[in-house]
Amino acid sequence: MKLNLNYLQLNESYLFSTIAKKVNAYAEAHPDKKILRMGIGDVTLPLAPAVVTAMQRAAGEMGVKETFRGYGPEQGYPFLKNAVKEYYAKRGISLEEGEIFISDGAKSDVGNILDIFDTANTVLVPDPVYPVYVDTNIMAGRKIIYANATADNGFLPMPDEKTDADLIYICSPNNPTGAAYSVEQLAAWVGYARRRGAVILYDAAYEAFVSEEGLARSIFEVEGAKECAIEFCSLSKTAGFTGTRCGYTVVPHALERDGVSLNKLWLRRQTTKFNGVSYVVQRGAEAVFTEEGMAQVQKNLAVYRRNAAVLADCLDSLGIRYTGGKNSPYIWMECPGFSDSWKFFDYLLEEANVVGTPGSGFGRNGEGFFRLTAFASEEATEEAAQRLKLLLSKA
Ligand code: PLP
Repeated sequence: MKLNLNYLQLNESYLFSTIAKKVNAYAEAHPDKKILRMGIGDVTLPLAPAVVTAMQRAAGEMGVKETFRGYGPEQGYPFLKNAVKEYYAKRGISLEEGEIFISDGAKSDVGNILDIFDTANTVLVPDPVYPVYVDTNIMAGRKIIYANATADNGFLPMPDEKTDADLIYICSPNNPTGAAYSVEQLAAWVGYARRRGAVILYDAAYEAFVSEEGLARSIFEVEGAKECAIEFCSLSKTAGFTGTRCGYTVVPHALERDGVSLNKLWLRRQTTKFNGVSYVVQRGAEAVFTEEGMAQVQKNLAVYRRNAAVLADCLDSLGIRYTGGKNSPYIWMECPGFSDSWKFFDYLLEEANVVGTPGSGFGRNGEGFFRLTAFASEEATEEAAQRLKLLLSKA
């Protein structure tokens, strides 16, 4: 018996536990202070009424002999796959139902997709990064190289022909930097991947936040992407499904390597290791894509967008540089007067009672940066912006 000792190579993830420890210690020592948490990556607004009604109806069906359902198709019910297909079609992207796989969220599939790739592949990951891309590859023992996302490239690294990568992770709009690629920039990545036979793993978990013209919401807006990319998407941030769990992954039929269809491999993987998302949740997800559901979901997204704008305006008025906030719920700011993200964290916590996320927790290039999120309440966001303005204008 041998263990997978690659697990011992994982860095302990101290980021959110250290934040919680520091915040709890401060709160205990200062029970009279109102702490504003602007670091959360979870949504706070409830599910859309159309989603709740659809799930209640579906739960009712499950309690009646005639409409009860047992195991569903592993890759999702056709009613939901068709709704996703229509969602893409409205943006001019034509997909086949068989290219869409319903998932229990983007995190699972971003990790699980690695089952269909050899462990000898070299993986290119941006730095700073959503830690799941790194850790899932360390678990499999793959070689990881980094694409530097810095202020100089607007936190949008572009391909370097000298870099030899087989799997390429792109997250746009990005967590943590909030930066979003244009269709034109993604076309450069698609060209690079196609030239070397690499596969792009495109995380579009925040696509619903894109509002500016010319920025991509899907990699399939780029011609030729179906021959080199897999897209992961989620209803977590789009529709408040973080606790409900539903997403979808697109593996195009045109994506082949060495004459083997990746869609076929993924279908085989899913039918072997996954038994599908619950019927009730899939009915709730279907409701997101109805006219009524979309309008309700957009209302919530508008609140988060306004919050992001409040924070962005505050930083503008202070002359602090940042990315994100316009097409993303994340704002990635420079730590003014601080080169150490954690020192800035302590300063904000102690002097303004505002909590964010130190950029260094997302990778080497995150040092000196700080992530704020738009997911807190409108009141808390307004108050946090005022406190930041007061404190940082003195600095
Ligand atoms: N991808 C990115 C970039 C994320 O930031 C997150 C969650 O924060 C996820 C995926 C996970 O999404 P899900 O809730 O669908 O698993």
